[in-house]
Order: sequence, then structure tokens, then C-alpha cells
Amino acid sequence: MGKLELHFQILIAMIAGTLVGFSLYQLAEQGVIATTIPQQAATFGHGLGELFLRLLKMVVVPLIITSLVTGVLGMGDLSRLGPVGGRTMAFYMGSSMLAILTGLLMVNLIQPGMGADLELLKTVSSGSTTPEIANSDKSLLMVLWEQFSGMIPTNPIAAAAESDMLPVIFFSLLFGTFLAKQTSPAGERFKESVGVGFDVMMQLTIQLIRLAPLGVFGYMVFAIASQGLQIFNLLGRYMLTVALALITHAVLTLPLLLWLMSKRSPLTFVKAMAPALLTAFSTASSNATLPLTMRSIQERAGVSKEASAFVLPLGATINMDGTALYEVVAVLFIAQLFGNDLSLAQQVAVALTALLASIGAAGIPHAGTVMMVVVLDTVGLPTDTIALILGVDRFLDMARTTVNVWSDATATAIIDRTLGNQAQTPAIDTHSA
Ligand code: ASP
Repeated sequence: MGKLELHFQILIAMIAGTLVGFSLYQLAEQGVIATTIPQQAATFGHGLGELFLRLLKMVVVPLIITSLVTGVLGMGDLSRLGPVGGRTMAFYMGSSMLAILTGLLMVNLIQPGMGADLELLKTVSSGSTTPEIANSDKSLLMVLWEQFSGMIPTNPIAAAAESDMLPVIFFSLLFGTFLAKQTSPAGERFKESVGVGFDVMMQLTIQLIRLAPLGVFGYMVFAIASQGLQIFNLLGRYMLTVALALITHAVLTLPLLLWLMSKRSPLTFVKAMAPALLTAFSTASSNATLPLTMRSIQERAGVSKEASAFVLPLGATINMDGTALYEVVAVLFIAQLFGNDLSLAQQVAVALTALLASIGAAGIPHAGTVMMVVVLDTVGLPTDTIALILGVDRFLDMARTTVNVWSDATATAIIDRTLGNQAQTPAIDTHSA
């Protein structure tokens, strides 16, 4: 597909798939062509989309394992880092939970997926009938208990083989913690190898995501050739919900925390962080943005190296407020499409899983969407519905990555303050760099 950037390719694929699907649908409606033709096109499109989705699913388990183990290793020994490590983790978890709550509030208020045509849905979930939503008649306590006890794998290999992600995440975190303590030469070599494994998985994922235009084209032909254009109406409301929730978290919650806990002016801080935030928006990758985040926060915002060297890289790996928020909105949207308003207990289960999924998501484009498999699984929703939202994912990914990086930066400024460092005038003026 030449040098055109991936998000443009995806957009073009989406438009092309829509045009092809819609023309066939209309021509068949008007009796110009046989009705079997759009059906055949839909089958072909679905096959193409499914190939892409299988490739994505292929990378999920190894990507999460290597991402988490590397993340924990990067953190070093938590006890050695002492209070800073603890405080950082507490802030990261807390701000992600606030983001999730904002997402839950918006999606319940706006209800973007309500009133969808079920027939339409069957076309985007390989013809599956309305799924049985798991956990629908259990109490909150029972769901929570099952969620917690289910996190402990009786056999981590079996959990990985069955793509049972929560136990895999739990085991990986423990494995990473104890691997961090291995300081023998062999231990160090092993740590390096896990790092290489993570690099390989990231590269592979990035390459696979390049195939997204084909998958999106296929699924678009499939959805539109069989059902016409109603699908866009739904996606518009979904995007609006994610965007409103992200804006609330970025413009209200995080600045308030920054102002109260670090005594910095949010406006000055956002100006200082602008190069990093703009890079995050255009690359949709917190990992790729990390060097700029590091530079902006040290040189333009005057945050100490002591805080930023630890808090930022950890954040780029595990702190993804925007991703966590997006996961809950997307999963509830899909549940609503199927006519299921999840109960409070189920929403709590989704919230917790989304938190873990955001921790496990790599800081690369569309990683959050790959991780959605885990959250959808929690409530028994069909994972191939991901294809439906993938078509509009690039813009949402850009927005949530910006929030991810903004939250990392906010945390760093706050932790810096707790280390006794006052907000300094930027070491260089904010117009350079
Ligand atoms: N692209 C996001 C990031 O790099 C992760 C995601 O897909 O949500 O922060």
C-alpha cells in the first residue's frame, strides 16, 4: 500500500469497503443484480476480515506475557524503590479507576448502542445469535469473588493455551517480580531475552496491524453488503461517547489532581508537555512518544530526573487511563448493541478487567483494541465484534494515547512533588524544542 500512513489506509479501506458493499446492496435491492451477489461478497468479506482477526488473536498471549514481565523488570525491585514505587502504583491505579468511572458514567448516560437492529448485529458477529451474557444473575459479591479467585491459574500454561487472560496476567506479574530478583549472570541473560521477546512481539504486532486495511475492507463489505448503512449511525454515537469521556478525564479530572497534588498550574504544564502530547496524538503510541515525554517533562516542565526516569517509562508500559476508559465504553457499547444492559455487578467485572487489560496493553497503536478480547470474554460477548469498531479505531486511538501520555506526565509531576521537589520554572523556555 505504498507510503501512505496506516490510518489513511484504514480510512480508505473503510470507505472503499462501504462503497463496494453499498453498491452491491443497492443494485440487488433494485433488482439489477441477483441477491446472491451481495451475499457472496459478504461471505468473501467476512473471510478476509476473519483472517486478519485470527492474526491479531495469535499475538495476544505472547505479547501480554512479554509486555508485563518487561514492565515489572523495568520497575526494578519495588521494595528497593520503596515509597516512590508504592506511591506511583497507587496513583496509576487510582487515576485509571477514575477514568474507568468516567467512561462508565458516559456510556450509561448516552447509551450509544441501545436500540440497534439485532439482525444487523448478526452480520458483524459471524451470524452468532444474541449471546448469553455471562454472570447475569449473580450478586456483585459473587461476581467479584469469582473474578478474584479466577485470576489465580491452577495451571498457567493451560490458562495461556486457552487464552484465559486474567490468570496469565496474574502469573506474568508474579513471574516478573521474582525474575527481577535474579541477579546472577544467567538471570541477567534471561531478563535480556525476555526484553528481546517483547521487542519481537511488538514488531510482529506492528507488522500485523499493517494488514488492518484488508481486514477493515473485508468486514465493511461484509457488514454493508448484507445490511446497508445503518451501522454508521451507531458508530458515530459510540465515538462521541468515547471522545466526551476522554475529554472529561483529560480536561477536568487530571488537571484537578495536578493542581491539588502538585500545586502546578495545569495550563503551564500542558504547554510544557505540548510536544509530547501532539506526538502522542499523531503516532498513537505511548512507547514511541516516551523520549519526547521524557524530554518535555525534564527540560520544559522542570520536573526532576529522579522522578521522571522511573515514573515515566513505567507509565508508558502500565498506566493507560485513556485505554482503560475506552475498553469499558467499547464493551458496554457492544453489550448494548446486543440489547443487554449489563448489571452493576457485571459492570464492576468489566471495570476491573479493563483496568488489567490497560495494564497489559503495549504502548503501540491499536494495542488496546487487541486487548479488548480479554474484556469481551469476561462477559461472554463475541470477540469478533471488535472488527466492527476497528474501522473507526484510529482516531479514538490517537485521542486515548494522548490521554495516556497526559496521565503519565501528571503522575510524574505529582510524584516529583512528593519527593520534595518544587515546581520549577522550566529550565528552557517553552518555545524551544
Ligand atoms: N495506542 C495506545 C498507546 O500507545 C494503546 C492503545 O491502543 O490503547 O498508548
